[in-house]
Amino acid sequence: MKNPLIPFKAVITDIKLETTDIRTYSLLLRDAVYKTKPGQFNMVGYPGVGEAPISLSSVVCENRFQHTIKAVGRVTKFIERLREGDELFLRGPYGSSWPLESTIGKDILLIAGGLGIAPMRPVIQEILTKRNSFGNVTLIYGTRRPDTLLFKNELDVWRKDAMVLLAVDEVTPCTIWAYHVGLVTELLDKVSFNVEKTFAFICGPEIMMRFISRGLFLRGFLPSRVYVSLERRMKCGIGQCGHCQHGSKFVCKDGPVFLYKEVSRFPDSLL
Ligand SMILES: Cc1cc2nc3c(=O)[nH]c(=O)nc-3n(C[C@H](O)[C@H](O)[C@H](O)COP(=O)(O)OP(=O)(O)OC[C@H]3O[C@@H](n4cnc5c(N)ncnc54)[C@H](O)[C@@H]3O)c2cc1C
Repeated sequence: MKNPLIPFKAVITDIKLETTDIRTYSLLLRDAVYKTKPGQFNMVGYPGVGEAPISLSSVVCENRFQHTIKAVGRVTKFIERLREGDELFLRGPYGSSWPLESTIGKDILLIAGGLGIAPMRPVIQEILTKRNSFGNVTLIYGTRRPDTLLFKNELDVWRKDAMVLLAVDEVTPCTIWAYHVGLVTELLDKVSFNVEKTFAFICGPEIMMRFISRGLFLRGFLPSRVYVSLERRMKCGIGQCGHCQHGSKFVCKDGPVFLYKEVSRFPDSLL
């Protein structure tokens, strides 16, 4: 049986600068056959440096896929220095996925804050390739400032098949910004939902997911239809080491995608 702790190599074929410290890496796997579901992650790293859990920010197409990575610490700052043609070492895909199969024929509300748009992007890509299988699709996406918006060039493409609402926390007087300024939660009032047939997928800072989820429940959303993606510090990624334990759950193995009601009751939860 294959040892799940042995990584495989992927070549960096392209690097796109999204913001000053966030880059989207296009990767190619040469020898493994690789399949993932939206919401899953890889342990991404380099020998002698370490590993970090990173969500797939795209669907996989002929062994090509993307990771969108913010340089914050040891591993991600090392990756920031890599160039096209360099290799990364990956283990995965790991974890649960957004339950897209359950949403066939239903409406979907996607809510992302900051880098939370990265694990949401494969969901959007998958929905857009099977657009007729879903009802109304709405994306609410908030970031700190207009220059921290990710995937800017794709927003107009997504708008053709989905309602896209944007918010930033702040703008300067010299910034041109045609959308909402304020909290992402405030955009909930700009959308009407049929709560009987809408699923909500939320990804972003935990405190934002808390207020969004509560806002949805106040608007009549069913607890069985609200999903969140959690982040915890991880080591093994396969439910062995306990680093990412959250209450009785392992975020790496049982998550990162959970029903909100499954994880909100744990004592260390901000949800
Ligand atoms: C399922 C999942 C998916 C993720 N997807 C993405 C993604 O798509 N893109 C992305 O950029 N990131 C993603 N992350 C977050 C990423 O894994 C972390 O930012 C990771 O810590 C980066 O590793 P690093 O070695 O570069 O940084 P680290 O050295 O781990 O430092 C990261 C930050 O945490 C602080 N820190 C360091 N040690 C501790 C500690 N013991 N306790 C608390 N804080 C500490 C540091 O000061 C720094 O600000 C994801 C995390 C999870 C769990």
